[in-house]
Amino acid sequence: MNRQRNRQKPHRKKTKRRPFKKRIKELTTKAIENSKAKMEIIPLGGFSEIGRNSVAIRADDEVVVLDLGLMMDKYIEYTDTDEFVEISGRKLIEIGAAPNVDILGKLKKNVVGIVLTHAHLDHIGSVPYIANKFDCDIHAAPFTIELVDRMYDDEKRMPRGTLVEHDVNDRFRVGTKFEIEFIYITHSAPHTVMALVHTPYGKVLYANDFKFDNNPTLGPKPNYARLRELEGQVDYLILDTLYADQPIKTPSEKIAEEMLKDVLLGTQSRDATIIVSTFSSHIARLRAIVNVAKMMKRQTVFLGRSLSKYTDAAEAVDLADFSDVEKVRYGSKVKSYLKKITDPGKFLFVATGHQGEPKAVLSRIVNENLLRLTDNDMVVFSSKTIPVPVSLENRKRLDAKLQSRHVRIFDNIHVSGHGAREDGRDFLNMLKPKNIIPTHGEMKQLVAFKELAKEVGYKPNQIRIVKNGERVKIA
Ligand SMILES: [Zn+2]
Repeated sequence: MNRQRNRQKPHRKKTKRRPFKKRIKELTTKAIENSKAKMEIIPLGGFSEIGRNSVAIRADDEVVVLDLGLMMDKYIEYTDTDEFVEISGRKLIEIGAAPNVDILGKLKKNVVGIVLTHAHLDHIGSVPYIANKFDCDIHAAPFTIELVDRMYDDEKRMPRGTLVEHDVNDRFRVGTKFEIEFIYITHSAPHTVMALVHTPYGKVLYANDFKFDNNPTLGPKPNYARLRELEGQVDYLILDTLYADQPIKTPSEKIAEEMLKDVLLGTQSRDATIIVSTFSSHIARLRAIVNVAKMMKRQTVFLGRSLSKYTDAAEAVDLADFSDVEKVRYGSKVKSYLKKITDPGKFLFVATGHQGEPKAVLSRIVNENLLRLTDNDMVVFSSKTIPVPVSLENRKRLDAKLQSRHVRIFDNIHVSGHGAREDGRDFLNMLKPKNIIPTHGEMKQLVAFKELAKEVGYKPNQIRIVKNGERVKIA
């Protein structure tokens, strides 16, 4: 499937597109600076750090860019002020929130395609600000494209190229040197793919992010068949190693569903006010929450803009149906909506703000008394607090307020979307890539993965821990 999307919206100007072949011809070989390699990997963001994931792959005089993520904490730190701040690609690069595409230098002109793996902001968040630095199309699976489309709308910006939708196991040409193959993988966002980059000089598999979920609650199992078929053929594997230091296999999403049932169905919750908070992009989890609410004969209400944005997108691409949910689409409407509720025990409220963000709906409910929370009421965090100082502090403050009202807190009713050490081992044994670049981790996780790879039988020189800008020659 290769469906081009109609990007014409009323408030948009239609961009004129030059024929692709002509653009290719214009590419200049002079732009290949200081490098005699035929093919190389150029890390742009998220290497030896967590966030703003992005990598470029060059084959001769053409470049493809995989993911354009945002470093969320830096972005929030910069924008979370009451004063006006300029949000431009240039500024976001300057503060380290967006991938440093300047690393590409004159090669920027030679980018023939942007390929996105999934809808998490640390993989696509910079697209509306940065993608227009390249004169090319954007390729992704339907849910991801849908989200990117809505992000452009929110920012009142237009993509320079076309947003091109592909099936989660599609194979398509980008420029004249690349063939991109999507390989479906499970993760905490739907329609996540790994991108296998075929070039005349070698193959790179970009598996950032991944999880091996054998009992997914939305969508199929990982495409193990294709991974096995590729055994020994991949020159470089770029792998998500966020939990490489944890000696477990990450549990299935099915476990999270059971944990939710256990908490919501297995406690004395009759007539209690119940608020659940989780990730807006986690469509499988949200669907599970709605299903449990039904078993409790409660009407689910989504409170907050991002919950509506992601679930609307999921409905638009027929991923999931949320017609049985009431959505309060704007933060400004939450107060008036909740004011009208006289019997909160008949509802299950899902709110944004699981990290205790002060401006999110959950914190507002507590601080502004939008629901009268008291003894035996419940707040369920179907999430994990990200261990960065700002989140830990925000959650501490929120939890203290809840505790002072004797609200029951259920924390960490959650399983991760990232594979851990034993998933990494299975990945290596299945694919047997020739070389590995661990990513999506700090030194601790990257080194843990290197140790694991050595245990599996790799030599130290086959495992490259690199920083942004540190080019890796392939051919
Ligand atoms: Zn992700």
